[in-house]
Amino acid sequence: MISEQCMPVLFIGHGNPMNAIEETTFTAAWREIAVTTPRPQAILCVSAHWETDGTKVTAMKSPKTIHDFYGFPEELFQIQYPAPGAPELANRVVELLGSSEVKRDESWGLDHGTWSLLRRMYPEADIPVIQLSLDRKKSPHEQVTMAKQLLPLRDEGVLVIGSGNIVHNLGLIRWHDNTPYPWALEFNALATGLIIAGETDRLTDYRSLGEAARLSIPTNEHYLPLLYALALRTREDPVSIFADQVVLGSLSMQSVRIG
Ligand code: ZN
Repeated sequence: MISEQCMPVLFIGHGNPMNAIEETTFTAAWREIAVTTPRPQAILCVSAHWETDGTKVTAMKSPKTIHDFYGFPEELFQIQYPAPGAPELANRVVELLGSSEVKRDESWGLDHGTWSLLRRMYPEADIPVIQLSLDRKKSPHEQVTMAKQLLPLRDEGVLVIGSGNIVHNLGLIRWHDNTPYPWALEFNALATGLIIAGETDRLTDYRSLGEAARLSIPTNEHYLPLLYALALRTREDPVSIFADQVVLGSLSMQSVRIG
């Protein structure tokens, strides 16, 4: 799979699963980013919703649609995103990361961190998709170091997407009041500045970024996909923010295009 163009890398704030069925400013932005991105030959998604012991990559031919949430309308559970898998791309990921670092997986599929975005971006579900898991045992720094080895995929027509949320505190979420917490706005702005400035090391060391970071990242699974995207940035890449809003008090929908 050789393409003439170096593919951009995306980090997308996926937020509430209802974005999969409700029209919002975010779903409009996801559609738009797909239109302005070269059509990928395959997609590799790092979703906040797949944490494992050891890194895994989906390697099945036909990944199932996983409805990994509860308490939402039946309509959401009916959604299928029947994109094909890409076993050869999974093998390429194993080749790049090393067979001791990553294992092929036949049991997962596409979780809502992946399909809630992709059904907006590529509704035909005709582009092969694989997922790479988050290893609970690796530090953020170790994950960034590993992710950097995926850089050649950008020249092979692969669109890498990190899917999470920069600010994600479900414990403090305001379901009936969209007013952002001051600390959520503070960390969202701080992270934006560091992303634009290319300060990936400081973002990786987020535990040293103060109280606003601590409240914004009570657990790091929604934040880590951002670091995977930033790990694939080169010096030449322009960076732009294509959604930048804190919703439900403590959920940042900020999304980033690299390259
Ligand atoms: Zn999520």
